[in-house]
Amino acid sequence: METQQDTWELFYEDLDTLFEECNQCGKCSSGCPAARVLALRPRKIALAAQRQRLDEMTINEVIWLCAQCHQCLERCPREISPYEVIIYLQNLAVKNGKEHPRDLDIMSNAVKRMSRIQEVQEILDREFDDYSRDDLDLPELVGPKDMAAFLKAFKKIMGETD
Ligand code: SF4
Ligand code: SF4
Repeated sequence: METQQDTWELFYEDLDTLFEECNQCGKCSSGCPAARVLALRPRKIALAAQRQRLDEMTINEVIWLCAQCHQCLERCPREISPYEVIIYLQNLAVKNGKEHPRDLDIMSNAVKRMSRIQEVQEILDREFDDYSRDDLDLPELVGPKDMAAFLKAFKKIMGETD
């Protein structure tokens, strides 16, 4: 049976091939919300993958700045996903004994409280007009039907024993 570790290793092997396609166009970084205000640059993550220097990135705090918005994947003309590499790096960092930043506990507590990282918010366009989900014909976000089962599964994923 394939373990999660095997999956990471398979993914890691595939990274070289996948990221050979990256031409460093920077569209991922230009759409990245974390790049606008923080030090994360998905283009550099792609470059590290190309140069097979990902192990060095596990000790870099920037890997914890990703907002997991998928913009880098959506904007990439080569369908490469720096986002998935960042998740891989976060997993690898923890597996290697590195503590995750305490700020992640704030997000984890929000998920336990309301099954999502933050309250649903309106979004602004370039003219600063705001839109609700309803305005955009998006369905209402509903939480899990069985919150107790959700919490149990979430704690299991997070490795929490209580
Ligand atoms: S958008 Fe895609 S091709 Fe361009 S730099 Fe980012 S990962 Fe590479
Ligand atoms: S998923 Fe992460 S790296 Fe990609 S654009 Fe969003 S914040 Fe940036």
